Amino acid sequence: MRLIFLGPPGAGKGTQAKALAQEWGVPQIATGEMLREAVKAGTPLGREAGRIMESGALVPDEVMVGLIAERLRQPDAARGFILDGFPRTIAQAEALNHLLKDLGQALDAVVYFDVAEPELLRRLTGRRLCRQCQTAFHLVSAPPQRAGICDRCGGELYQRDDDSEATVRHRLDVYARQTAPLLDYYRGRGLLSSVKAEGSVPSIAAAIRRAATEAR
Ligand code: AMP
Repeated sequence: MRLIFLGPPGAGKGTQAKALAQEWGVPQIATGEMLREAVKAGTPLGREAGRIMESGALVPDEVMVGLIAERLRQPDAARGFILDGFPRTIAQAEALNHLLKDLGQALDAVVYFDVAEPELLRRLTGRRLCRQCQTAFHLVSAPPQRAGICDRCGGELYQRDDDSEATVRHRLDVYARQTAPLLDYYRGRGLLSSVKAEGSVPSIAAAIRRAATEAR
C-alpha cells in the first residue's frame, strides 16, 4: 500500500495515518513530525526549519525532498507507506515521481481529506498533542480523561506553536496557494480519491479503507 494523505492542516491526516499505518503494517511518514523531532534535537535541519515552521510557511522544497529521499530508502518503507504532509508543492510531487521511479515503486492512490474551513479552524485552535506518542486530542470534542495528560501513554499534552489562531490562518492560506494545486495534479493522473473527512474518526477510517481498496 503506497498512499499519500493530502489535505489542509487540521483535516485529520495525522490521526488517520497513525491508525491505518499500524493496521496495514506500513510506516506513517509524517514530514511535520520529522521536522519537529529535528527541532527538538537541535540538529542543523531543526535550526533551519524551526523558524520557518513557527511562521506557518513551508520549508524549502530541496530540504524536504532530501529528507523524504532518505526516508523512503529505509528498509521499512520498501513494502509500502503512508505519506502524511508530503508532497505540499508541485515541485515536491515531481521529485517524488522521480524518486519512486528510481526505487521501482508506484503510488496506489492519493486520498484527499475534504473538510470545511470553519471546522479546520475549530480543530486546530483546540488541538493538543502528546509530547511522547503524538496522539491528538481536542479541548472540546476529544478531551483527555485527565486534563493535560495523554490517555494512551501518560505523556504531557502541549499546543503546537503554529496552532495559534493567527498562524493557523496563515497556514490555511499557504495550503490554498501552494498545496491545493496538487488536487488537479493527481486528479489528472487518475490517482485522486476524495473522502469527506468530517464525522467520527472510525467512519472516516472506513471511508479511507474503501478508497484505498478500490485503488488497488
Ligand atoms: P504538519 O505537521 O504537517 O502540519 O507540518 C508542520 C510544518 O512543517 C508546516 O507548516 C511546514 O512549515 C513544515 N512542513 C511539513 N511538511 C512539509 C513539506 N512537505 N514541505 C514544506 N514544509 C513542510
